[in-house]
Amino acid sequence: MGSWQRRSIDQDAMERLILRSYPDPVLREVAREITAFDRVLREFSEGMIEVLRRVGGIGLAAPQVGFRRRLIIARQMKDADDTGAEPLVLANPVVTSASTEVWSYEEGCLSIPGVSASVVRPVAIKIGYSDLEGKKHRIDADGMFARVLQHEVDHINGRLFIDYLSSAQKSLIKPKLKKLTGEHRLL
Ligand SMILES: [Zn+2]
Repeated sequence: MGSWQRRSIDQDAMERLILRSYPDPVLREVAREITAFDRVLREFSEGMIEVLRRVGGIGLAAPQVGFRRRLIIARQMKDADDTGAEPLVLANPVVTSASTEVWSYEEGCLSIPGVSASVVRPVAIKIGYSDLEGKKHRIDADGMFARVLQHEVDHINGRLFIDYLSSAQKSLIKPKLKKLTGEHRLL
């Protein structure tokens, strides 16, 4: 049966976005610098925002949908309940400084379903990035927003939140991790 509705190219492209899951090796790669700030990049970031909206996430990095580039999105959350905050798109993000003050919070990851654990991270950071036009920015972030940014920047460096855990925490989540097969989730 054919569809009654004409489908746009964008819709088709978005439906090809597949969420990669642990232990998919793409999650361990260091993503490449973005050099072309073009229409393709803009459409791709729109697709990522759509994925985030659909799964109810607070942040997403391009490698999580199989795109090996330094692109992340993060909701600009004021606190942990602010899950509907507008997402900010950051190309080539670099954390330039971090507070010595740290805090612990239970993190999860769309690519590691069913697993969560407390992760200690700096409370506040300074981050530099380019917008989708290639214009450079530098912002201060703290609290949940800073945490999401750090989690997503880790993704483009092939690092996952489970890497920060103590050996006691690791042994707790090990059975759950072992069950993950790296199966792709079509969104
Ligand atoms: Zn994640």
